[in-house]
Amino acid sequence: MAFLDIQHLEKTFGSLRVVKDFNLGIEKGEFVSFLGPSGCGKTTVLRMVAGFETQTSGTIRIDGRDVTDLPANRRKIGMVFQAYALFPNLTVADNIGFGLKVAGEGKAQIARRVSEMLELIGLPQLGERYPFQLSGGQQQRVALARALAPRPQVLLLDEPLSALDAKIRISLREEIRRIQQELGITTIFVTHDQEEALSISDRIVVMHQGIADQVGTPFEIYNRPATRFVAEFVGTLN
Ligand code: ADP
Repeated sequence: MAFLDIQHLEKTFGSLRVVKDFNLGIEKGEFVSFLGPSGCGKTTVLRMVAGFETQTSGTIRIDGRDVTDLPANRRKIGMVFQAYALFPNLTVADNIGFGLKVAGEGKAQIARRVSEMLELIGLPQLGERYPFQLSGGQQQRVALARALAPRPQVLLLDEPLSALDAKIRISLREEIRRIQQELGITTIFVTHDQEEALSISDRIVVMHQGIADQVGTPFEIYNRPATRFVAEFVGTLN
C-alpha cells in the first residue's frame, strides 16, 4: 500500500457531487500536484486529507494507519494556505513554535526546533520580527516552517504561491521543492497553474469536475494527455 492511500473518496455538498470516486496512492517522499481549474475539487480533496472537511464516503490511510475518522490534530499533517495565515500578534519564532507549544513540548526543545526551522527556510535572523514586518514571500516561508515544525508525515500546500508576484513565486517554489527533498516529506501541492505543476512535481493529478482525469509524471501529462480536457488544460492542444 502507498504511504498516503486515498480510496473511493467522495464529497457531496447538498445535491452537488464535488469529488467523485477519487483514488490515489502517493509514495513516501513524493511531491504530487493537484492541477485543475478553479472549482474542480482540488481544495476539497486536500481538506478531507487534512481532516478539515468530512468525506461523504471513502477512506484515507497514512503509513498504513486509517485516519479517515481522526480529527485534524491527530493526523500528523502540516498545511500551508494561500493567504498567509500567520498569527499577527506573535513573533516569527512563536508562530513557528506554536504547534509544539500546543503539543506540550518543553521550552528548550521548542527553541531548538524553531532555530532549526529558521535555518531551513533561510531566515535565521528574523525570529523576533512580527509578520507585518515581513514580505509576502518571507511570510509564506514562515508558514511553511510552522507547518513543518511538528515534523508531520504529510505536507499539504494549498496554492501557497498564488498571492505572490511572479518573480517571487518562481524562487519560492524552488525553495519549497528543495526543502521538501531535504526532509523527504510526502507532499501534495494544489495549483491551477500548469507551468508550476509541470516544473516541480514528481507526479501530477489533473482534476476536472471532481474527477482525477489523469495521474502521471509531468512528461506523461504533457506528452501523452489521456483526455481532451488534459490536452487543452496543459496547453498541448489549443
Ligand atoms: P478548487 O480547489 O479546485 O478551486 P474546491 O474544492 O474549492 O475547488 O470546490 C469544488 C466545488 O465545491 C466548487 O463548486 C465549490 O463551489 C464547491 N464547494 C466547496 N466548498 C463548499 C461548501 N462548503 N459548501 C458548498 N459548496 C462548496
